Amino acid sequence: MTGIAIVTGGTRGIGAAVTKALKKEGYQVAAIYHGNDVAAERFARENAVPIFKWDVSDEAACLEGTARVEQELGPVSVLVNNAGITRDVMFHKMKWEDWRAVLSTNLDSMFAMTRPVIEGMRERRSGRVINISSINGQKGQVGQVNYSSAKAGVIGFTKALAQENAARGITVNAVCPGYIDTDMVAMVPDEVKAKIVSTIPVGRLGAPDEIASAVTWLVSPMASFCTGSVLTVNGGQYIAN
Ligand code: NDP
Repeated sequence: MTGIAIVTGGTRGIGAAVTKALKKEGYQVAAIYHGNDVAAERFARENAVPIFKWDVSDEAACLEGTARVEQELGPVSVLVNNAGITRDVMFHKMKWEDWRAVLSTNLDSMFAMTRPVIEGMRERRSGRVINISSINGQKGQVGQVNYSSAKAGVIGFTKALAQENAARGITVNAVCPGYIDTDMVAMVPDEVKAKIVSTIPVGRLGAPDEIASAVTWLVSPMASFCTGSVLTVNGGQYIAN
C-alpha cells in the first residue's frame, strides 16, 4: 500500500526519521510542523518533502490543514500522529498551563488530526493510523503527570479506534518509544540522562530510525492483521504487557 501519508512533527527527531522512511517506501509524505521554521525548511530542502505548518492541538487548523494536504496531494492513506511536547514539573508545582499544553498537543491532537481523515479512509475501506505514545504512558514517570496521562490516553484512543474501524480495512496501532536521541531528550540534564541510560538493558538511547522502522512495518502489508496493538520499542527498559 502506498499513497499519501501525513506525519505530524515530521520535520525533526522521530517524525523526521518516519517521514524519510515512508518516502523511501514510496509514499508521498506531508510533514507537519509548528514553530521551528528553520529546521522545517532545511528538512524540506534536503529531503524534497512538502512541509505544512499548523498547530495539531487546534481543531480548526487541523481541519483546514488536512483539507489542504488532500487538495494538493490527494487522499490520505496513512496518518502518523507523532507531534508531541513535554512540560516536565512535579505535579504539586504544576500549573494548569503545563497540564493543558501537554494534554492538548499530545492527546487533543489525536482527535483533531484523525477525525478529518478517518471518514475518507472508511469510505475507501483502507488506511493506517499510527499513534506515537511513550514508555512513560505505560509506566508513569516522575515529573510527567501531564505527559504520562496524555500518552496513556493515546493508548486508549488507539484501542477504541482500532475496534471501530477494523471491519473497514483500517488498522490503528500505537508505538511506545523508550528514550530516543532527539532534541526532546537533549533537554534532559546530562546527569539525569546518564541515570536513565543505566536503566536501559541495551545500554544506550534509541535512534529515531529504530522507531521509524517500527512505524514502517505497521504501515506495510506485513502488518495487515495487526490492529489495536501497542508496540513497545525501548531497549528492554520496561517490559509492558
Ligand atoms: P522533537 O521535540 O524532536 O520534535 C517534535 C516535533 O513535533 C517537531 O517537528 C515539532 O515541530 C512538532 N510539534 C510539536 N508541537 C507541535 C504542534 N502543536 N503542532 C504541530 N507540530 C508540533 O520530539 P521527538 O522526535 O523526540 O518526539 C516525537 C514523538 O515521540 C512525541 O510525541 C514524543 O512525545 C514521543 N516520544 C519521544 C521520546 C524520546 O525519547 N524522544 C520517547 C517516547 C515518546 P517544530 O519543529 O516546529 O517545533
